Amino acid sequence: RAKVSGRNSWQVHPQHNDPAADRLRRVGELRHGIERGELVLHYQPRIELDGGAVHSAEALVRWQHPTRGLLSPGEFIELAEDSGLVRELGAWVLEAAVAEAAGWQPVAGRRLGVAVNLSPRQLGDRNMVRLVTDALQRHRLDPSLLTLEITETALMLDPDAALRSLQALARLGVVLAVDDFGTGYSSLTYLKRFPIDELKIDQSFVAGLGVSDGDEAIVASCVQLAHAIGIHAVAEGVETDAQRASLAALGCDLAQGYLYSRPVPVDEFLRWCAAQG
Ligand code: C2E
Ligand code: CA
Ligand code: CA
Ligand code: CA
Repeated sequence: RAKVSGRNSWQVHPQHNDPAADRLRRVGELRHGIERGELVLHYQPRIELDGGAVHSAEALVRWQHPTRGLLSPGEFIELAEDSGLVRELGAWVLEAAVAEAAGWQPVAGRRLGVAVNLSPRQLGDRNMVRLVTDALQRHRLDPSLLTLEITETALMLDPDAALRSLQALARLGVVLAVDDFGTGYSSLTYLKRFPIDELKIDQSFVAGLGVSDGDEAIVASCVQLAHAIGIHAVAEGVETDAQRASLAALGCDLAQGYLYSRPVPVDEFLRWCAAQG
């Protein structure tokens, strides 16, 4: 499958190599990487558009590869998903993010939530609810401070199974978000049935604000749709002050993007929060 990656990418197969053997090698490398604690989380602040306060942070995984440097999820998430390793990866991310966020509460002096991305396979994992419950209890994190982000595409792979998983997760009191909203094909019927708390408007539409009338209309209808069904709208990929201003004018609730901060290591994130006053 064609894949955009850098010249020295971990994913490039040397031509003389057997692709199947190469894949096996990379799966083994990733498994060892997870076991050796080479995964790290970077955090990107999520800001309340009305007032500008820091609301929470999205945890985004990276792999500190021993020889290839810091790899972004685009380099290994798909392999993790296809090989089943995403269960271990996902469990690690959940545990690390919940542990971290539990420690923030006294530091920040205000409630600061954390958002974690779930892969499609995790959503179908019967163990998921147990994992989330255990992590919240072990670290004594208020469930309402944990957001789980699930892509629209993952929800629509098997909507009935997704509904059952979401209902079980919702009973725990965590916040459920639909990620990359607008890029898949969700039906409004399902949206209404799912116990969702947040729509995350995909960054491709946010990028079109002030550039494309079509994108502007899509963003406006996403915000209206979210509010019509009583949930929050979140914009991702906010890079300019003009985009921030349009989103605020449209009544969007939360924003995240390079305008505020790139995803950064936790120390840097906490310093950034402190500097916001
Ligand atoms: P996503 O959940 O849609 O995350 C948003 C991506 O946009 C992140 O890329 C983030 O760094 C990037 N981004 C944030 N602000 C801006 C901006 O202003 N402009 C632009 N152009 N980009 C921005 P990243 O960190 O490379 O993650 C890519 C994807 O990998 C994520 O997309 C998510 O689907 C997946 N992912 C990341 N962490 C995890 C994880 O722990 N578990 C799973 N299953 N997937 C993850
Ligand atoms: Ca996300
Ligand atoms: Ca997204
Ligand atoms: Ca995305």
